[in-house]
Amino acid sequence: VDIRIRSGGHHYEGYSTGDCVLVIDISRLNGLKLDKKRNILKMEAGAENTEVYDFIGSNGYVFPGGTCPTVGVSGFTLG
Ligand SMILES: Cc1cc2nc3c(=O)[nH]c(=O)nc-3n(C[C@H](O)[C@H](O)[C@H](O)COP(=O)(O)OP(=O)(O)OC[C@H]3O[C@@H](n4cnc5c(N)ncnc54)[C@H](O)[C@@H]3O)c2cc1C
Repeated sequence: VDIRIRSGGHHYEGYSTGDCVLVIDISRLNGLKLDKKRNILKMEAGAENTEVYDFIGSNGYVFPGGTCPTVGVSGFTLG
């Protein structure tokens, strides 16, 4: 069985879905951890733009992810 990984599900060509495939949805792997001393944000692969914006914005930082709130950060990064 072919496998598809789905983060935010926004792939333009539909590579995170398909017929007769096993979809592994990682959207609940969405933990975020900020190390303020080292200015490093660790994001789990299923986090969405909006979750990152809310978290990082409330800590005084920005994230350049575009406008769509439900784009996944790992699909965005791979793209
Ligand atoms: C309606 C729409 C609005 C958009 N708006 C914006 C925007 O505002 N800002 C912006 O920057 N971009 C935007 N995009 C483009 C978007 O950034 C890309 O399409 C991006 O690749 C989507 O990532 P995703 O995680 O949501 O999609 P997905 O379909 O979940 O993933 C994209 C690809 O990456 C693979 N993948 C995902 N996670 C992993 C992983 N952890 N390991 C291995 N493979 C993985 C998937 O299998 C798939 O092939 C938009 C696209 C659409 C369709």
